[in-house]
Amino acid sequence: MSVDQVSVGADQFARSKVSGKTTNGYGALTAKAKLAPFSFERRQPREHDVVIDIEYCGICHSDIHQAREEWGEAIFPMVPGHEIVGTVKAVGSKVKKFKVGDRAGVGCFVDSCRTCPECRRGLEQYCSVLTSWTYNGREQDETTPTYGGYSENVVVDENYVLRMPENLAADGSAPLLCAGITLYSPLKHWQAGPGKKVAIVGLGGLGHMGVKLAHALGAEVTVLTGSGSLLRDLGSGNFRQVGATLRSNHQYGFCRHKLERIFETVEGGRRHGGRRHSGEGERGGGLLHRNGTAKSCGVGNRRDSGDAGNAGFLRQAQHCQRC
Ligand SMILES: [Zn+2]
Ligand SMILES: [Zn+2]
Repeated sequence: MSVDQVSVGADQFARSKVSGKTTNGYGALTAKAKLAPFSFERRQPREHDVVIDIEYCGICHSDIHQAREEWGEAIFPMVPGHEIVGTVKAVGSKVKKFKVGDRAGVGCFVDSCRTCPECRRGLEQYCSVLTSWTYNGREQDETTPTYGGYSENVVVDENYVLRMPENLAADGSAPLLCAGITLYSPLKHWQAGPGKKVAIVGLGGLGHMGVKLAHALGAEVTVLTGSGSLLRDLGSGNFRQVGATLRSNHQYGFCRHKLERIFETVEGGRRHGGRRHSGEGERGGGLLHRNGTAKSCGVGNRRDSGDAGNAGFLRQAQHCQRC
């Protein structure tokens, strides 16, 4: 333990400046209400907790969906935000992974049951019992609501805190904690590696992460867009700079039966684009290679789109049906 590390037990925390202090944030008081200043109390930090002063928090489209209660009954007041980057302000007496002053991040969840088979395997994001989402969720007591990163600070068990490299800009790296992992996990799982012909459908928040990560992994990247204006506005040269080729929908024929991996990032991609890009029929369809795999990464605005509510969707996919 370094000398500059603040080491306090639960009792001391109760008297510290951290505990009992009001946290200021922005919250939606009811579904569809505009965000407004909202003050609340974080929990008393425990022995394994890390207190993070939040410096940046990304805005994820799921923040909007949940604040509008588009994914079913939500918990209000709601403080959104699950792309959190900040600096460790204090640590509990048994914290081993962090010290005061470290750069730290928090993603989509802040706790899990820790006892189910997935948690025991270190795959807490697939917890089959109770995931404590960073906001619009409950702590493991199934009662206490969680509040997200549109706020001054957050208190999280060290096992659910991520170390953020000092050489990454705090603002630019915050979106890695949701949008980034949402693409990185399926790209790795489906082996989007060197020489693989990989397509990213859509170029929004998820899509541009997918393009950069797939390129960095060594894949041969094609961006598929239904928007002709994207090509006109950005120009194909910008895509070549990151090693990608842009194809608008009237150019899909170039890719017919060639793509080994397709990652859909458009909202509701399964409904609107899944068959068109990966399956049979429809003009320009059948883009997947014989042994290809198509994966829907975007979550639509309705929970019945089949993906929302379980991070397990990161590894599920549909395969080419022609073989
Ligand atoms: Zn998100
Ligand atoms: Zn679990």
